[in-house]
Amino acid sequence: MADNNQSFSLVWFRGDLRLHDNEPLTMAIKQSQGRILPFYCFDVRQFGPTYSFGFPKTGPFRAEFLIESVQCLRDGLRKLGSDLIVRVGKPEEEIPKLIKSLNVPVTHLFGQKEITSEETDCEKSVHRALGKLDKKVESKLVWGGQTMHHIDDLPFQVEGGHPLKVFTHYRTMMESKNISVRQPFPSPSKLQSLPKTGKEDREVSVGDLPDLDQLMAIGNFGKWLQDHVQRDPNYKGDEIVKEGPTSNSKKHRDPAQVMTGGEVAGLKRLHFYLWEGRHIDTYKSTRNGLLGSTYATKFSPWLATGCLSVRQIYHEIKKYESKHGANDSTYWVTFELMWRDYFKWVGLKHKNDIFKLYGLKGEKKDEQREWKKDVSTFEMWARCKTGYPFVDANMRELTATGHMSNRGRQNVASFLTKDMKMDWRMGAEFFESFLIDHDVTSNYCNWLYVAGVGNDPKENRYFNVVKQGHMYDSKGEYVCYWFPQLKKLPDADHMMQPFLYKGPEGTFSLDRDYCEPVVKVNFKKEGGDHHRSHGKKDFKIKRGGHGGRTVRDGAPQHSSTH
Ligand SMILES: Cc1cc2nc3c(=O)[nH]c(=O)nc-3n(C[C@H](O)[C@H](O)[C@H](O)COP(=O)(O)OP(=O)(O)OC[C@H]3O[C@@H](n4cnc5c(N)ncnc54)[C@H](O)[C@@H]3O)c2cc1C
Repeated sequence: MADNNQSFSLVWFRGDLRLHDNEPLTMAIKQSQGRILPFYCFDVRQFGPTYSFGFPKTGPFRAEFLIESVQCLRDGLRKLGSDLIVRVGKPEEEIPKLIKSLNVPVTHLFGQKEITSEETDCEKSVHRALGKLDKKVESKLVWGGQTMHHIDDLPFQVEGGHPLKVFTHYRTMMESKNISVRQPFPSPSKLQSLPKTGKEDREVSVGDLPDLDQLMAIGNFGKWLQDHVQRDPNYKGDEIVKEGPTSNSKKHRDPAQVMTGGEVAGLKRLHFYLWEGRHIDTYKSTRNGLLGSTYATKFSPWLATGCLSVRQIYHEIKKYESKHGANDSTYWVTFELMWRDYFKWVGLKHKNDIFKLYGLKGEKKDEQREWKKDVSTFEMWARCKTGYPFVDANMRELTATGHMSNRGRQNVASFLTKDMKMDWRMGAEFFESFLIDHDVTSNYCNWLYVAGVGNDPKENRYFNVVKQGHMYDSKGEYVCYWFPQLKKLPDADHMMQPFLYKGPEGTFSLDRDYCEPVVKVNFKKEGGDHHRSHGKKDFKIKRGGHGGRTVRDGAPQHSSTH
């Protein structure tokens, strides 16, 4: 039982929904000898419309993952003797309300510092609200939990940030200077119980978690979601019991496609991918896969919610390498995680420019370039009706599960911006709504990159979606999974371009089974070379901090493999 005269520290959980490697939590425990108030607020603004195009900011897949993550955090805290206080509202209103209701002094607030403006504006509002309380509450928002490398360890100033111009500069600088990754903070082993509230010394109300329907009702997006959420055509499981945002919730989906929120599931995935399955050994050759659960790590949704710490992943990989040996694949996972860090620094440096149409190009903008905003054209892309199965299958996976492979993301983004010539932000906001792993800087900076207004040193990068379909889905298995009617077509050539089919009537019909292409993509088959080699260039990169070994195919994630 907590002593009412002793002070407490409030821990504001945000994008760090975990007990392991949690610096604000560790600091709070130290500050108040274990007397902490763990707090999470479902911020209603995150369930309203997206900034420019009014899509649901947090769609049902991510909302579901988030609820599970918060529940898991609460379960973990309960096991340690504490609990998680949960509210639905605005942190700047809910935090002071909670502090005022308690019978004990709260002297400190600890939390993770975020990067982009909505989150930092919220921090400022909380800070202002705390300043209005009768008793001083010192707020400490700390860096460090979001990135593999700590901001204080960077060999340059993010604001000046010359090495941030191009990823390769950044990576080689970090590797050549051998910048190490800090050790994770250990999870706490015991906590004190929550304090009492009010004159009657009642238990503090910890609050129920909202359910998916409640969260989706905040923005009143029922109709929009009904129109855009798709179902897996292969899953013949549970009947849909009702229409609406929850009609495609996890209980109506193929369990193989489902990822569960929370640090327990995240750590389990890490253990599985490394130690149990040893899938990390072959990551570099499988990472462009499209079907199944082991072609890539799938760490991203747990990273995006902070259920998994990136430092924990890094050190687990190092442990794995010292037991089983390092290879290009084990290195490549950390290489990809450097992209994640890189985009966080880019977001920090360029602030709201990452949300602007001309992105990082600023005044060098290309006035000739067309950026359409026509909603009915956009809907062809969003509702999987572009007429190009490699695009539509990926979009169906996204809108039926909340996930899409990296290869898929690059293709659908390129198609929307370079072939359909649409405003890239429509795609980015749609991704924000649907992706369970939505991460502001990874999403927006990748869109900038593919749209040609970001950090890509190569001008006019373009993914030909027909060619890419042949390269990465050479037998059409992926497109047929999401559009089973394409199995009626005789070969992969037609599966990638069904509108070319001129077969006998009564078999495949474009009108009945699929749709006309929304634009024309030029594709000429050139002797099938790309089928065999995957079109990869054979060039080398140097890995500075790894003994300068060279590896084949140094193309970064946004490789020249198209
Ligand atoms: C248009 C577009 C939008 C994207 N939006 C997001 C997003 O909202 N959230 C997100 O986490 N990733 C995003 N990505 C990056 C990438 O597609 C995903 O990180 C990856 O597909 C997640 O699957 P995985 O965990 O199996 O990745 P793996 O291939 O196993 O990679 C391991 C980890 O490295 C990081 N990573 C890999 N590629 C990238 C990359 N290009 N940029 C930044 N980090 C990377 C991720 O944290 C990932 O979990 C986007 C990419 C594109 C092209």
